[in-house]
Amino acid sequence: MSIATRLAEIEARIDAACALHGRPRSSVQLLPVSKTQPVDAIRQAYDAGYRCLGESRVQEAAAKASELAELPGLAWTMIGHLQTNKARALVDFCAQFQALDSLKLAAELDRRFSEAGRSLDVMIEVNTSGEASKFGVEPDAVVSFARELRGYDALRPVGLMTIATRTVEQDIVAGCFARLADLRERCRDALGDGFDELSMGMSGDFELAIEHGATCVRVGTAVFGPRPYPTA
Ligand SMILES: *Cc1c(COP(=O)(O)O)cnc(C)c1O
Repeated sequence: MSIATRLAEIEARIDAACALHGRPRSSVQLLPVSKTQPVDAIRQAYDAGYRCLGESRVQEAAAKASELAELPGLAWTMIGHLQTNKARALVDFCAQFQALDSLKLAAELDRRFSEAGRSLDVMIEVNTSGEASKFGVEPDAVVSFARELRGYDALRPVGLMTIATRTVEQDIVAGCFARLADLRERCRDALGDGFDELSMGMSGDFELAIEHGATCVRVGTAVFGPRPYPTA
């Protein structure tokens, strides 16, 4: 099956989930996650009309961005954990960063983007699963973390992101999504507008995420097929 066909199938499933849960279709965006996939796969997604692509690793994303620089309007969204010493590299290609999980990293991104005269859309990654191995700000700390971000002029907080517990138990996954949605309301109550986005849901759970208010679903394998090599 072609990538364009798979994308159309996922879009149809998003349509159905939105209809089922009484949400406007325009409130949910499909972010194809192209990490580990070759640039040819990204070209196919581009030809199918997609402009935002999700990537995890800085070096890989930067290389793809320069290789595909001829494609107008491509916007790279970084969704993976970022070490502070790699923040500078984002300035050259990154439009949005969804995995902000420390104030040290926020300060460094702010400094680098300010120097370049740019701003960066960011989402706070939240550890909604409670797993020690997961990155992300602890739920209890999210509102104060969000408040601190106001001190960084080059960063534009647009919402929250999470990776749910990996389990077949739907109520556990749903609990992660519900927690993120609740935290967004608390951020809005405390800080006013600006936390519109809820990035949650992947190949195996995006419909459940839509039920709980996802505005961005990050879908990799269901679009591009199995990854040629594993990622963290
Ligand atoms: C890889 C990845 C995805 C996509 O996962 P699939 O299960 O392949 O859809 C989504 N979000 C993040 C943060 C990822 O690292």
